[in-house]
Amino acid sequence: MTLENDSQSTPPSTAPKPALTDWPLTEFASLGQIPGARSFHGTNVRRWIYQRGVDQFAAMTDLPAALRSELEARYIVRSLKLALESQSTDGTTKLLFELQDGKTIESVLIPDRDRNTLCVSTQVGCGVRCAFCASGLNGVVRNLSPGEIVDQFLFARDLLGKRDQRLTNIVLMGGGEPLNNFENVKIALDNLNAKEGAEFGARRITLSTIGIPAKIDRLEELGKQIELAISLHAPNEKLRGELIPGLDRVPLRDVLDAAHRYFDRTGREVTFEYVLLAEVNDTEACARELAGLLRGMRASLNLIPLNPVVETGFRRPSDERVESFARILRERGINVTVRRSRGRDIDAACGQLRRRFPTGDAIRQQRPPRDGNRD
Ligand code: SAH
Repeated sequence: MTLENDSQSTPPSTAPKPALTDWPLTEFASLGQIPGARSFHGTNVRRWIYQRGVDQFAAMTDLPAALRSELEARYIVRSLKLALESQSTDGTTKLLFELQDGKTIESVLIPDRDRNTLCVSTQVGCGVRCAFCASGLNGVVRNLSPGEIVDQFLFARDLLGKRDQRLTNIVLMGGGEPLNNFENVKIALDNLNAKEGAEFGARRITLSTIGIPAKIDRLEELGKQIELAISLHAPNEKLRGELIPGLDRVPLRDVLDAAHRYFDRTGREVTFEYVLLAEVNDTEACARELAGLLRGMRASLNLIPLNPVVETGFRRPSDERVESFARILRERGINVTVRRSRGRDIDAACGQLRRRFPTGDAIRQQRPPRDGNRD
C-alpha cells in the first residue's frame, strides 16, 4: 500500500495545468508552435507519453532543455495521482486514484491465467444507480476527462511492466456509465487504440453499458472492433425498473433491439451481464423468462454472483443456486459463463474502496487499512 506524499500535491491557489493525456492525438501537432519548438517535437512528446509511458517532461531526453522547461511551465503529462494501492490475496490489485479536484476513482487490475485485465472507471460516481451497486449510491458526481480515463491505463501498464508483465485486456466496467460520457470515452479509446497512441487492440477492449439504445447505435464511432457488454439484471420490465431506477424507463425490448442491430452492423456478438441477487432475480422463473428473452439471439450471457455491498442489503446466492440458474439457461441453448468474483478481501466490487475514501483528504485523514486484510 502506498500513500501519496502530501508535499507533492499542487497548492490549491494554483489553477491546474492542462494534462496532455486529455488531448486527442492530433492536437500534439500544436506543440510545434511553442517558441523554440520544431514541428516534429509534438510527435516526439506523443511518443514519449503513449509508447514509452513517460510521465515527466524532464525524462523526454531528445527535447531541447529549454523546450522541456517551457512544457513543464504550461502543462502536466498526466493528472491522476495514485492515492492507495491495495493487493488482494488472490492477486487482484485495487488502485485508488486522486483527481486534480481531490475526488477519487478506482481501477482494478485482475490477473487470471495468461491475462491481465484492467477495469477502468469512466465517471466519478454513477447516475444509473443500480440498486445493488456501490458506485451509484450517491449518484453521478462528474464525467471523467479523456485523460483521466487514459491515465488509469498508462499507470497500470507501467505497474505491470515493472512486474515484467503485460496488460492484455481493458474492461470499461469500473465506476460510471461509459455511454453517459460518450465524447470523452471516444477520445480516450482512440488514444488507447490508435497506432499513434498506445496501440492497444480494440478487440481487447470491452465496453459495458446499462444499455442506452441511441448510444449503442453510435458505438461504431468508438471503433468497430470493440466488445460490447450490456447489463440486463432482470428478465422483465418490472423487476428491471426496480433494480435500475436511474434508467428513465428504457423498454427492455428497445435494449435487445439495439443489441440485434449492433450484431447486424458489426458481426460482433454481444455479451449480456446479469448480476445474481439471492431471492430477487435468481429464481427458476427468472431463469426461464430470461432464456425466452434471449432465445435466438447471437449473444452470450455472463452471470455475475453479487459481490455484496453492505449498504444495499442484497445477498449473494449460493454456488448451487448460481449453478442451477445457469443450467436452466444452458438447457435452453443459451451460451452461459459464470464470472468468478475477485478481490473480495479488498472491496473490489464497483465503487467500494472509493466509497470508503471519497476524496484525497479522506485518505490523508484516515489511517489506511492494512493490505489485503479487510474482511
Ligand atoms: N455502467 C456500466 C458499467 C459499470 S458496472 C454497466 O452497468 O454495465 C460493470 C458491471 O458490474 C455491471 O454489469 C454491473 O451491474 C456489475 N456490478 C456492479 N456492482 C456489482 C456488485 N456489487 N457485484 C457484482 N457485480 C456488480
